[in-house]
Amino acid sequence: MSDLPQADPSLRRIFGIETEYGISVTGAEREPDPGTVAMLMFRPVVAATRSTNTYTANGSRLYLDVGSHPEYATAEATRPIDALRMDAAGERTMRRMALDAQELVRSEYGANARVHLYKNNVDSAGHSFGCHENYLVRRDIPLSLLGRELIPFLITRQLYTGAGTWAADGSFRLSQRADFLDDAISSSTTRSRPMINTRDEPLANSDMYRRLHVILGDSNRSQIATWMKLTCTHLVLCILEYAVHHGLETGLQGMELADPGKAIKIVARDMTGTVPLDMADGTRKCALEIQGVYLREADRFVREHGDDVALDVADAPECLELWAKALDSVHFADITELSSWVDWAAKYRFVQSMKLRHPDLGAARIRQFDLDYHDVANGHIFESLVAHDQMRLMLDDASVDAALDTPPADTRAALRGAFVAAAGKTPGCTWSADWTHVAASVDGRQAETQLLDPFDPTPTPGYERVMELLQAAKTA
Ligand code: ATP
Ligand code: MG
Ligand code: MG
Repeated sequence: MSDLPQADPSLRRIFGIETEYGISVTGAEREPDPGTVAMLMFRPVVAATRSTNTYTANGSRLYLDVGSHPEYATAEATRPIDALRMDAAGERTMRRMALDAQELVRSEYGANARVHLYKNNVDSAGHSFGCHENYLVRRDIPLSLLGRELIPFLITRQLYTGAGTWAADGSFRLSQRADFLDDAISSSTTRSRPMINTRDEPLANSDMYRRLHVILGDSNRSQIATWMKLTCTHLVLCILEYAVHHGLETGLQGMELADPGKAIKIVARDMTGTVPLDMADGTRKCALEIQGVYLREADRFVREHGDDVALDVADAPECLELWAKALDSVHFADITELSSWVDWAAKYRFVQSMKLRHPDLGAARIRQFDLDYHDVANGHIFESLVAHDQMRLMLDDASVDAALDTPPADTRAALRGAFVAAAGKTPGCTWSADWTHVAASVDGRQAETQLLDPFDPTPTPGYERVMELLQAAKTA
């Protein structure tokens, strides 16, 4: 982004979103289990790479762990808008894979079978799966500070980032993930259910950086909500980092919650944002008040240090404006404006309008609407809201298409993407990649190199050698 002013390097950030998708099949004569469908989705990937774990020409990771939740992890981006574009490309890739698999499913399980691929966070059996946000932060940020001053923000941002759902008893939740989390911070995801995972895999220079792994958020279908969750979180992290580096107060003292595990569930059940939460200092504050403080401090930070964050958030004014409007809408209990970009509000409003037309609308039907909204393969509701200008988009179609094979230009993803594209076109080449490493082998010759700096898109001599190997094999 060379046209933007040079920003304070200590506030630069890498953003990445991991999205797990859920699978189901309807209309089949006998139902294949989701694991079978997942394997059908990955059949072309396995044919091309002999693995269900691969990287794509835009530098992102496409993989299937054990189980039946295909995952797309976006290439490293320095701006939320680029991460959003990568996530939208992921959605498109997954949709194409699901519809191709549907053809295979139909030949074996009946011509009316439909494959549903849900970009949501809870399946029909009540199991939850994830959407992880990754933020590169400086290593000198104490984890305890994140627990005190970031977690309360993450818990209350549900007001505009929650994807919404109806619980088994028919009551509404702003967030799908809220009921599945209890510890604020932990290094384990198996023993406890943390909101931030501190597993120490920085994917960068570990003396300087930490990869903050936020696992409490919902997957969003709304592009604006995806962008807002990254942008607002980035601003809060900037406030914390700046204060730590300069030995200043953050302005966010007093935000610590007495019991984050309890608070997240209260907020999820409170569309008004006004139910009081117990604070660690013995006072009580509601979600709207807490968000109000974060917004005020973010606004102040952008006014005082706007130039420093310009590289990463050229769009800070737009974010702050939307943020303020969102809090106003919740305050005035008017979800009309919110429903044009907040997933929970869009879904809630849709169901309300259906209830007016069909007063006997039952829980099962509402559950179907809920799922349909997240179905990127065969869903109708989200697409129809977009078509009727009731859901606003941020990206144009062509730029998402281009992002399918174009990595962000200003991170190491540019190197990885070019490598994957070249390796895929090289006859007889076996290759592997991960976030920090690429390797190729052709005709008994091997080359590999590390990509240790996520901010650096310039080819190193080692990288040139890998690319030369591919080039030589292609011309031979
Ligand atoms: P999982 O949680 O599924 O077990 P994981 O979190 O270790 O796996 P991936 O699913 O591979 O990892 O996703 C890694 C994400 O982190 C990607 O979106 C990527 O862009 C992002 N990322 C890569 N390097 C960095 C970095 N240095 N700092 C922050 N994020 C990074
Ligand atoms: Mg992952
Ligand atoms: Mg992860």
